[in-house]
Amino acid sequence: MISAGEIRKRFLEYFREHGHSVQPSSSLVPQDDPTLLFTNAGMVQFKKIFLGQEKRDYTRAATSQKCLRVGGKHNDLENVGRTARHHTFFEMLGNFSFGDYFKEDAIRLAWNFVTVELGLDKEKLFVSIFRDDDEAGELWRKVAGVPTERIFRLGEKDNFWAMGDTGPCGPCSEIYVDQGADMACGPDCGIGKCDCDRYLEIWNLVFMQFNRSEDGILTPLPKPSIDTGMGLERITAVCQGKRSNFDTDLFQGLIQTMAKKAGVAYHQGEDSDTALRVIADHSRSIAFLLADGMLPSNEGRGYVLRRLIRRAYRFGKLLGFDEPFLCDTADQVVSEMGGTFPELVASREFMVRVVRQEEERFGETLDKGLRILEDEMADLKAKGLSTISGETAFKLYDTYGFPLDIVNDIAEKQGFSVDEAGFREHMAVQKKKSKQAWAGSGDKGLAGQFAALTGAGLESEFIGYDCLTATSRI
Ligand code: ATP
Ligand code: MG
Ligand code: MG
Ligand code: MG
Repeated sequence: MISAGEIRKRFLEYFREHGHSVQPSSSLVPQDDPTLLFTNAGMVQFKKIFLGQEKRDYTRAATSQKCLRVGGKHNDLENVGRTARHHTFFEMLGNFSFGDYFKEDAIRLAWNFVTVELGLDKEKLFVSIFRDDDEAGELWRKVAGVPTERIFRLGEKDNFWAMGDTGPCGPCSEIYVDQGADMACGPDCGIGKCDCDRYLEIWNLVFMQFNRSEDGILTPLPKPSIDTGMGLERITAVCQGKRSNFDTDLFQGLIQTMAKKAGVAYHQGEDSDTALRVIADHSRSIAFLLADGMLPSNEGRGYVLRRLIRRAYRFGKLLGFDEPFLCDTADQVVSEMGGTFPELVASREFMVRVVRQEEERFGETLDKGLRILEDEMADLKAKGLSTISGETAFKLYDTYGFPLDIVNDIAEKQGFSVDEAGFREHMAVQKKKSKQAWAGSGDKGLAGQFAALTGAGLESEFIGYDCLTATSRI
């Protein structure tokens, strides 16, 4: 069975042989890009090259890029554990052409890699193209020999990519693997029709061919470019004959260790499986974020890290863990992936210490908060109601350190919803109060700085409610 490490290596080797410069992954924390919370795709480190603002001594590149999709435009947090294909942290294998080759070679290279290098069965592969992109459809037939009935035309939402409201954009084309009719979600299951795991999207090819101006007009780029991304975890699952990314060697080490510790077997029960998957997923994000210099905090990016730790810790509770355990799973991530990512090894001891501290701190209030939540739900139930008030959600957040995700997880599981708008109102009121308190303290300089920090916080526009929490007590 081919390992994930071997697939990563083969991918980079293959593109090196085809004239690509293999570049290291950039940090999860984007360098000088205030428009982005975290690196969420391979193209992020090349953005300036695509925009023509920077030149390198190569026009073709390949990477395996660390990505995080929590908060911001792409948020897969809620998908984790629910689908078999989404993670918060994942690696995106990508090849890039900066005004060098275009559609034809991009299609040829990708198709050859999956069918020849990896030997995937062509009969199980499907492709999608953008509705109007006849050129791509023609090339899939000509270059890859994909029959017309396996080529699906999708709309703007799925298959048209744009860097922003203006700038480079263009149609996409994706490769899907059919994982079997028995996985169909229903009679309407199909590419572009549902979002289940039967047709697994493995690779997205972006054909950057237009520039969108402020008035929305598309003009052809003089030198069109290519940006592609394939999830390592997904292609590994396909190559290893698994229907879930979590069944691959990338996750099984973590899952089995935890299952043993908790005294459960994986695939024994739905709830424990979800917990094991969420913890394995979050442990990787936690380890990689810390290795990239993030620290848990109450705002912005740091709060994303804190949320991940607390959410994973709560799932650990469901498995019966009463002591810090994420410090050990993060440590295991270092052992398993440190060979490929030396930054993990470099921050190992620090990481373990920080995670343990976070767990101990949250461990002190978790039980109390859970009791409050349970009581509230029992109360509501007795009254025939099913919405947890914004006030309770805010109290849990403010006094017991519960990120809204946790309240949502628990509420949803028991058939309740959360008044998120009410929660935000309470948050806004508190924010205002704390600003006034600062302003009244007489220290105008500091108050000004504080207001600047919280009011115009760089990350604040991306994650809304959960970033402006400098007043939170925990
Ligand atoms: P999906 O439709 O399955 O959510 P996507 O269209 O959002 O995927 P892209 O933005 O096209 O994904 O990213 C390129 C590739 O990265 C995908 O084809 C997939 O292989 C991988 N990928 C995307 N999101 C995730 C994730 N959350 N976890 C693991 N792999 C992912
Ligand atoms: Mg997605
Ligand atoms: Mg998609
Ligand atoms: Mg896609």
